[in-house]
Amino acid sequence: MAQSQTLSAGGQLDYSTHMRTIRSRNTKPEMIVRRLTHRLGYRFRLHRRDLPGSPDLVFPTKRKAIFVHGCFWHRHNCTLGQKTPGVRPEYWLLKFERNQQRDAANLERLTNLGWSALILWECEITRPSSDALARTIVYFLGTRADQSAR
Ligand SMILES: [Zn+2]
Repeated sequence: MAQSQTLSAGGQLDYSTHMRTIRSRNTKPEMIVRRLTHRLGYRFRLHRRDLPGSPDLVFPTKRKAIFVHGCFWHRHNCTLGQKTPGVRPEYWLLKFERNQQRDAANLERLTNLGWSALILWECEITRPSSDALARTIVYFLGTRADQSAR
C-alpha cells in the first residue's frame, strides 16, 4: 500500500524539480520519528541546511544527526528501494545512482566535520515496531542527561 502511494506521488512530480521537492517535504515517516524522538525527551532542530545533506533531525550539542530516508529515492535494500519505473528505466537508474553517490558524499562530509549520523529507512518506520525504533534512537543518541542539566 505504502509502495504504490510513494510511486504514484513520485510519478506526478516534475522530473526536474522533484529532487528539491522531496528534501523539503515533511514526510509521514519523518513526522513519526520527530514525535517519537520528542516523546523520548530529546530536543532537536530541523533541516539544518548548513550541514551536508541537510539532515532531518539535528542534535547540535551532541553533534549527531538523523536522516529519514525514503526507500524509493535513496535506494534502500528492500522491495520498494529496488523498484525501477517501467518508463525510461535508464533515466531512473542514472538518477538513483546519483542519489546514492550524493548520500554517500554527504555522509562522508558530515563525518569529517565531526558529526555522526543515523539513517532511518521509511520501511522500518512505517512498520508497527516503534519499540525497536525507540531503542535504535536511544542507542544512537545516548543518555539525555546532558540535555536535562541545561
Ligand atoms: Zn526500505
